[in-house]
Amino acid sequence: MVWFRSFIHVSSSIGSSSIKHRYLNKSPPNYFLSISLSQHFSTESTFHKTPSPDDNPYSGLCRATKPSEKPRMVVLGSGWAGCRIMKDIDTTIYDVVCVSPRNHMVFTPLLASTCVGTLEFRSIAEPVASIQPAISREPGSFFLPAHCKVLDTDNHQVHCETVTDDEKTLKPWNFTISYDKLVIAAGAEASTFGIHGVTEHAIFLREVHHAQAIRRKLLLNLMLSDVPGLSEEEKRRLLHCVVVGGGPTGVEFSGELSDFILKDVHLRYAHVKDYIHVTLIEANEILSSFDDRLRHYATKQLTKSGVRLVRGVVKDVQLQKIILNDGTEVPYGLLVWSTGVGPSALTRSLQFPKSPGGRIGVDEWLRIPSVQDVFAIGDCCGFLESTGKPVLPALAQVAERQGKYLGNLLNKIGKGGGGHANRAREMELGPPFVYTHLGSMATVGSFKALVDLRQSKEAKGLSLTGFVSWFIWRSAYLTRPYLKQNLRIVGSFLRMVGMS
Ligand SMILES: Cc1cc2nc3c(=O)[nH]c(=O)nc-3n(C[C@H](O)[C@H](O)[C@H](O)COP(=O)(O)OP(=O)(O)OC[C@H]3O[C@@H](n4cnc5c(N)ncnc54)[C@H](O)[C@@H]3O)c2cc1C
Repeated sequence: MVWFRSFIHVSSSIGSSSIKHRYLNKSPPNYFLSISLSQHFSTESTFHKTPSPDDNPYSGLCRATKPSEKPRMVVLGSGWAGCRIMKDIDTTIYDVVCVSPRNHMVFTPLLASTCVGTLEFRSIAEPVASIQPAISREPGSFFLPAHCKVLDTDNHQVHCETVTDDEKTLKPWNFTISYDKLVIAAGAEASTFGIHGVTEHAIFLREVHHAQAIRRKLLLNLMLSDVPGLSEEEKRRLLHCVVVGGGPTGVEFSGELSDFILKDVHLRYAHVKDYIHVTLIEANEILSSFDDRLRHYATKQLTKSGVRLVRGVVKDVQLQKIILNDGTEVPYGLLVWSTGVGPSALTRSLQFPKSPGGRIGVDEWLRIPSVQDVFAIGDCCGFLESTGKPVLPALAQVAERQGKYLGNLLNKIGKGGGGHANRAREMELGPPFVYTHLGSMATVGSFKALVDLRQSKEAKGLSLTGFVSWFIWRSAYLTRPYLKQNLRIVGSFLRMVGMS
């Protein structure tokens, strides 16, 4: 079940979460269900009296806040951008309601390391309620497991649908939330370029449940390939790991896989070690955002560790093979798809002016200029052409800094009395959001990485390769303020390099 996979951290987070707390202490079991306004779901129960709206802390969410109440900030999404603003927002000024299909933030730069067991899944996921504890404690702050489906900016409302895909036990239901300030931080979607079969047969690498699926498939194929009765050809197919997309994610995952093969497979699956291979397919150059020198280094390192680099365009994806444009058939046992991101279904459905590339268009203060009190941050947004600024890359460092900037801006607006709906029209907002690129990094396996600290690949400045870069790469992520699991991660890395 998708919702259950997305709630990977629920056991640790929900112990302190608002929903369980209120559910257990104040309400009957159907209590949470009664937040819905326009439902296809009955809240009738033979065992429990349906609570009156006055008892129900959720029922107030659909109406506008009163001037005597805290203004309500609704955040759509619990990724880099959404979690950063939730972390920084002053909860003495605002109530925070987070609507997202997952109850945790994923520390994406380390996701590839979890696919092969270098890191554990729980090390890279942080519960929303731990990033912003008010969500567990404050009576008007909540995490709601749902997708936003429709925005009604005229009435300052969002219409949402709960997450569930198990139609047999629980149908999704709809509910509405009123906002004073709305922050859209709903990210982007993996691009498939409409290629047939990608969604059905390939695994993306964007969520913890994707990494779990990759690990499960890899281990299953390794074990199956040792079972008697399998032809040589089938054994080679099962153990052929194909990665499509030579950007940082595809390269990092290929590097992790080759490390796994050289260490774990050679040690623990010695019978089949000569059958397992990694192929990385890319239509152009790998790591095209890096300069020639760094790219050549990456190519050399990957080839040295056994990754086969293939220049090609995928035309069709079938159950056990992919077909390239030139007709070449590539059989696979594991197929990981990592060809970048594009606008999500929510972004595509919104009628606001868009930035080049189809993202939600924002001005220099990250506002959607055509409506009041609505902001967008992270991968889902881009500067409108009229700002004269370029669309920023889909990167965690952009999303996080936009979240930080907007948190400060909304705190300032709230302190100045503009927190409630339509109260900030005439307010002086101060300096606009300015992005300075801190550099790009990518690991290529075998404790090697590329670090480019220049503003762009043409600019002057420092760029490094090798172990020192790998060390910088790892250390940079361990300084981020979200992960409470840093010690666990440091322990894993020390074990990797043989220091503990
Ligand atoms: C494997 C991998 C490695 C990466 N490595 C790096 C790196 O090393 N450095 C770097 O800078 N960047 C990296 N990135 C990119 C970085 O992760 C993204 O740029 C960043 O996650 C964008 O943050 P965001 O908050 O905009 O979106 P996301 O982090 O994608 O979060 C979007 C959130 O919105 C939720 N959502 C989706 N639809 C809806 C809806 N309809 N309603 C409500 N909520 C919704 C999602 O569930 C999610 O919680 C990597 C990405 C991946 C996948």
